[in-house]
Amino acid sequence: MTKVDYFQAYPQNLREQVQQLITSGNLRTYLLNKYPTGHQINTDKQLYEYANDLKQNYMRKTPQIDKVMYGKQRDLILNALGTHTFVSRNHGGKLKSKHEIRIAISLKEAPEEMLKMLVVHELAHFKEKDHNKAFYKLCEYMQPNYHQVEFDMRLFLVLLDQGETLFKE
Ligand SMILES: [Zn+2]
Repeated sequence: MTKVDYFQAYPQNLREQVQQLITSGNLRTYLLNKYPTGHQINTDKQLYEYANDLKQNYMRKTPQIDKVMYGKQRDLILNALGTHTFVSRNHGGKLKSKHEIRIAISLKEAPEEMLKMLVVHELAHFKEKDHNKAFYKLCEYMQPNYHQVEFDMRLFLVLLDQGETLFKE
C-alpha cells in the first residue's frame, strides 16, 4: 500500500477490498461518485463560522471557541482519524483546553462531509478528551454518518498520497 497504512486496524477482507479499489485505478471515481462537489469554506474566518454554527446547533452549552484555523501540519488529519490507527499524546490535550480548532489545509480541497467530520471530531473533544464511546456518540449525534465519512477520508488520503486531487481545477 502507500507510505502510511490508513487501514491498518481494519479486517483483512476490508483491507483487500480497499487494495483492489486502489490498484484498479478507480479510487478517484469511487470518491467522486459519492462526493461530487467540494466546499467554499476557504478562509479561517469562514471556517470559524462553519465550526461555530455546528457548535450552536449541537453543543450550545460548551465554552466558546477561541480560534479556528487551517494549519499546515499533516498530522492534523492523522490525529483525527483516532484510535483505529493513530494515537497522539498531545491530541485532545493542550490545544483543546484553549478551545482552538486546527484543520489540515488539505481539507480545503475535500468534500464538505470530510471537512465536517474533522470539525465535528474537534468539537467533540471540547466535551470528551478521549476517543471513548461517549466521544464517538457525540460525533454521530453531530454527523450521523460520521464513521462512513471517516472511512472515506482514509481513501481520500490515499488519493492525496498518490499526488492526485479529488476535484481537478
Ligand atoms: Zn481526537
